[in-house]
Amino acid sequence: VSLGSVHTVALVGLTGRHVQVQADVGGGLPGMILLGLPDASLSEARDRVRAAARNSGAPLSPRRITVNLVPAALPKRGPAFDVAILLACLEAEGLVSVPGDTVFLGELGLDGALRPLMGTLPCVLAARELGFACVVLPRENAEEAALVPGIRVRPYAHVAALLAELGADPSKLHAPRPAGDGGERTAGERSASGTGSPASRSVDLAEVVGQATGRHALEVAAAGAHHVLLKGPPGAGKTMLAERLPTILPPLSEDEAVLSACLRSVGGQPVSALDRRPPFQAPHHTTSTPALVGGGSGVPRPGAASLAHGGVLFLDEAAEFAARTLDALREPLESGSLTLHRSGGTASYPARFQLVMATNPCPCGKPTRECECSALVRRRYWARLSGPLLDRIDLRVTVPAASTKHLVAGGAGEASSAVRARVEAARAAQAERWAPHGAAVNARVPGAVLRSDRFRPAGAAGRALAQAASGGTLTARGVDRVLRIAWSLADLAGRTSPGPGDIESAAVLRGEEA
Ligand SMILES: [Zn+2]
Repeated sequence: VSLGSVHTVALVGLTGRHVQVQADVGGGLPGMILLGLPDASLSEARDRVRAAARNSGAPLSPRRITVNLVPAALPKRGPAFDVAILLACLEAEGLVSVPGDTVFLGELGLDGALRPLMGTLPCVLAARELGFACVVLPRENAEEAALVPGIRVRPYAHVAALLAELGADPSKLHAPRPAGDGGERTAGERSASGTGSPASRSVDLAEVVGQATGRHALEVAAAGAHHVLLKGPPGAGKTMLAERLPTILPPLSEDEAVLSACLRSVGGQPVSALDRRPPFQAPHHTTSTPALVGGGSGVPRPGAASLAHGGVLFLDEAAEFAARTLDALREPLESGSLTLHRSGGTASYPARFQLVMATNPCPCGKPTRECECSALVRRRYWARLSGPLLDRIDLRVTVPAASTKHLVAGGAGEASSAVRARVEAARAAQAERWAPHGAAVNARVPGAVLRSDRFRPAGAAGRALAQAASGGTLTARGVDRVLRIAWSLADLAGRTSPGPGDIESAAVLRGEEA
C-alpha cells in the first residue's frame, strides 16, 4: 500500500490557503471516498476525476481509494482540486511521480481536458508565498498566472500531457496533445493590453467641452476623494463626466493594482494585465443587491462595490435603484470593506470606492422645460436618495443641460493629464497634513479634527464659515462637509489653509440639504 500526496491551493475570499491532497489505495470494498470536502459540489469531483482518468488512458484502480484533503476544517469549494485529486490517486498506485515543489490547480472535464478556473491570480500569489517553485494550471489561466513573478507557470490543455511528463505509460495514454502543453510561461510574457470596457478606458476629460461646473466639481472630488452627486436633466453629460473621474485620479500603486486584479479574478473576470488605472464600475439601476455588494451561491464572490475598490463606483439614475440595494452600500461607505455571510461560507472583500451618483431632478426624465412634475413628486423622488447614503456625499452639484454638440468636440477642454497633475499635488499635501490624524484624504478626515483649534479656519475664513452657517440650513454635518471641500479647494490652489473664498465656494459645491 502506498500513499499519494499532491499540493494545491484553496481560495478563501481573496486569500489562497495550502491544501494537501492525500490518497491511499488499499483493501476494502471497491470505491472512492473523499474526505475533507464539505462543499456538496466537491462530491461531484469523484465522478469527474474517474471519467477523466478513464478517458485519458490512466483509469483509477478498481480497488478502494481513500482521498483526504488536509486541513479538513478549511472551507473548500469548487472544482479546482480535480487535477490534484487525480494525481494523488495515480501516485498512490505508483503510476506517476508528483514533484513536491509544485502546486496543481484545475478542474477536469469528463474527457480529461483542463477547464479554466476563477481566482487564478490569488491562488498563484499564495503558491509563491507558500514557497512553491512551480504551478500547473489550465492553459486558459496561463496569461493571468504569468502576472506573478517568481514562480514557474506550466499550463496544460489536457491532463494526458501532464500524466506523460509525470511518468505515466505513454503507450496507454490517449488524448490529443496540442502543441505547447507544459511549456513554461514567465512573468515577462504578459500582454500589454488593458482590461475594462472601452467606454471607460479610452476616455479623456478633454472631450468634455464647456460644463465648467461639472468639470470643476469632478476635479474637487478627485482632489479630496469626495463622493459626489450630479443632479441634472437628461443630456447634461453626467455620465460623460463620471466616466472620466478615473482618468484624473492618481494611478494605483503596484500593490493596489495587484489587489484590484485579484478582485477581478475572484469575481470571474479575465485578467490579462496589471492595470494601474483606477477601476470604474457602473452597475445598472436594475442590478441586484448581490451583484452590487457581492454574494451568490456557495462562498460569496465580490460585487461591483468591491470591483470598484480603489476607483469609482458610478450609480446612474441613482434614485431608480431599489432602496434596499442602495442601503447595502452603507457598510462599505462606513468601513471600506464588505463582509458577506452565505451558506457556503464567509468572505471579506475590500470596497473603498469613490461614489458618484447621478440623478434627474424628477422621475419623468424630460428636459426641465417640458417637465410637468409637481413639487411633491419632485420632492418624493429626491427623498429616495436622502438619508444615510446622502449624508456621506460631500459634493452635490447641479449640472445644467447642454447640447451634445457642445459636449463632444475636438478636444478643446483641458486634458485629463493636466487635471490629474493638480489632483496628485493636492493629494500629496493632504497626505502630509492628515498623516498624524490617521487620514490620507480630506473626505475621510474626522469632523473633530476639522473643527479642532489646530485646523478650524480663523480670521476671514472663520467669519465666512459663520456666515454660511447662519444662512439657514447648515447642520453640524453640513459644516464638516463645507470644511472638507474647502480644504480640497485650498489644496488644489496650493494654499496652506482655506481662505474665505474657499469656504464660500465649498458652501456652493456642498449643494442643498436633502
Ligand atoms: Zn419631471
